[in-house]
Amino acid sequence: MNERRCGLADSTDALAREANRVPPSTSSRRHPRSVLHRQLPSADRFHRRTITWELAPFRESAQLPRELQRRLLAEAFRSWATVSPVYFREIPAPVEAADWSDRPPADISVSFERLQHGACRHAFDGPGNEVSHARAAGPIHIDADEDFRGTLQQQRRQSTGPSVDLRRVFIHEIGHTLGLLHSARPDSVMHPANLLRQGGPAPQIGAQERRLVQKNYGACSAKVNSVFDWIRTDPERGYPVFNTYFFACEFYWLFDNSAGRPRLGDPRPVGQGWPGVPDGPDAALELVDFDPAGKDNVYLLFFFFGGEFLEFDSAKTAAKPGYPKKIADNFGPKPGYPYSVPDRIDSAFYDYGTGLVHFFKGIWVFIYNPGSARRFKFNNCCESVRRIADRFPTAPGDKPLQTPVDSVYFRLADGGLYFFSGREVWQDVAYSAYRPPAAGVPAAGLLRYRGRASDKWPDLCFPEHSKCDLSEVKLED
Ligand SMILES: [Zn+2]
Ligand SMILES: [Zn+2]
Repeated sequence: MNERRCGLADSTDALAREANRVPPSTSSRRHPRSVLHRQLPSADRFHRRTITWELAPFRESAQLPRELQRRLLAEAFRSWATVSPVYFREIPAPVEAADWSDRPPADISVSFERLQHGACRHAFDGPGNEVSHARAAGPIHIDADEDFRGTLQQQRRQSTGPSVDLRRVFIHEIGHTLGLLHSARPDSVMHPANLLRQGGPAPQIGAQERRLVQKNYGACSAKVNSVFDWIRTDPERGYPVFNTYFFACEFYWLFDNSAGRPRLGDPRPVGQGWPGVPDGPDAALELVDFDPAGKDNVYLLFFFFGGEFLEFDSAKTAAKPGYPKKIADNFGPKPGYPYSVPDRIDSAFYDYGTGLVHFFKGIWVFIYNPGSARRFKFNNCCESVRRIADRFPTAPGDKPLQTPVDSVYFRLADGGLYFFSGREVWQDVAYSAYRPPAAGVPAAGLLRYRGRASDKWPDLCFPEHSKCDLSEVKLED
């Protein structure tokens, strides 16, 4: 048989199989905890959060440019970084000969090897069959005798047969270095024979592999600045659509609610998708006036940051000209009232039920009547200023909401109102956006503690160090 595959033995012992399994929910647990929750052994684990890698000097494939191999490797490492709490950093090849001696060893050295190689116990076998192997917290070896030229070619002539795709090889073997074993699912990046070029998009690290690497190294967690559903008219279909966005420091994620994970490749820099919006905005606030005929919906999207705010043009995907403006000049008191919306708010949310905006700051919530998206009333603060604990009390016996909040998020996908604070989230179970407005008076909420935000919104992972990264990395046993 000439099946090209990873040379790592498939796991046959039950313990190893269990170690590579996602723990089932408590109700369906049929195995002793000691088996299901077996930790990655110390020798199989990296003990640093930033894991270094190199394409070993003079050990690249001769078939493709070295720079191309480095770029594909960097992309493969980044795809794991976006689903795990660890970071990866390349140790570049030295430029000067004098730099060789003080060059630090890389945690993961990637090299192309032939037949019996170095101290490796595992010999390669020339063209065909075994393509590559790696071990947990160890080096990656790739059989230099394989044909990798199809990695970037769009079409292969029939006679040459399927070609090994270095992108898949890299992603697969990096998975082993992070402690993952083989998967029996043919579409998994960890299937031993899923190494051939298949056309179409880049290979995707699936939900099971995401859970496994986070079981080994810890779940990803972000201190969010702002979470919101961006509603706008789809230019092609002509009706309103929405996407969910998480902002945290210099990054944002588009969260795919149907897939239950961020868009592949996210996060991206804020400035890349949201021109004019500064990193880590304090709050996003969107009001929509829906035209019953569907022709003339009005969307009003503000971002608040420090003492300023801007209006974002959803149709042009750019900040509107004339901004930023000062919060103090535009969200001041209405005649006869003492309060203004403060600078440096924590969050803002628009209640479609009562038509009121809630600005959160510290332990306070400023309840503001904006009129409508079409005729927004500036300098109209405020209907009332209340303690968050009074307006949104936590259910007796539940963990009380921790203030200041990071973001208050009305989630269109389920109609829920969520309060993010650190790694944790609360839900206002009394909230309904669809109840009839009762003379503009908001009813009291009732918050229930929902545990870790990462359980509901997983994979908010940072590809590089960020002060908004709250992931707790498991580096020791
Ligand atoms: Zn493998
Ligand atoms: Zn080897």
